[in-house]
Amino acid sequence: MAVSDKVVVELVDATKIYKIGEQFVHAVDDVTLQVHGGETIAIMGPSGSGKSTLLNLIGCMDKPSSGKVFVEGRDTSKLSSDELADMRAKRIGMVFQFFNLIPVLTALENVEMPMVYAGVGDRQTRRKTALEALEMVGIAKKADRFPGQLSGGERQRVAIARAIVNHPPILIADEPTGNLDSETGKMVLEVLTSISGEQRAILIATHDQDVVNYVGRLIRIKDGRLVE
Ligand code: ADP
Repeated sequence: MAVSDKVVVELVDATKIYKIGEQFVHAVDDVTLQVHGGETIAIMGPSGSGKSTLLNLIGCMDKPSSGKVFVEGRDTSKLSSDELADMRAKRIGMVFQFFNLIPVLTALENVEMPMVYAGVGDRQTRRKTALEALEMVGIAKKADRFPGQLSGGERQRVAIARAIVNHPPILIADEPTGNLDSETGKMVLEVLTSISGEQRAILIATHDQDVVNYVGRLIRIKDGRLVE
């Protein structure tokens, strides 16, 4: 996918400090970073290096302790919790290690949920759009199955469909292959990075070395700091 001139995410000296007892942990430490539309980026680093914290800052799930995080030009530290929720619902898609599908909803109903949250469309339009998203990730045939009736790889496809259904310009995946065998993991990386049609920025935190074959840029993080 072509990378655009548009900066969709910008961090300027972003730092996130957690206090555990008397200890301060710099989970993200003075990170400056620009992400353009259409970029696919892998964030690699050992466990505890700050990958999830970094993605949580970009995904508007958390605010920095100091420094700035801009998402589509908006300073997240200045947004109210309602505005942050709105950003998460409409501008950001998320994929997780353990899929986080709702077990009592079918694949199709799971994919409909972000549209329900964002207040998009009527019931019929939502169904149609959800089915199209499932088609994009190659699993429309199993739209009526419950998550428990799907394999890990199939569940992650459903989760990807759910993440992209509102056409977010930013897609975040936190260890998306962490719970899959290596072949299935490759397939999931392929699906994640090959959904075309939009100038979406994709950020994937992973331990999976295979990821370098699927992304345009690799960022390494250690002790909360970007290295190299
Ligand atoms: P990674 O995703 O690379 O495994 P994390 O971002 O989860 O790393 O964690 C970075 C550091 O911040 C670790 O030392 C972790 O223990 C700490 N940390 C993460 N989340 C919290 C939290 N909610 N409260 C306290 N410490 C946290």
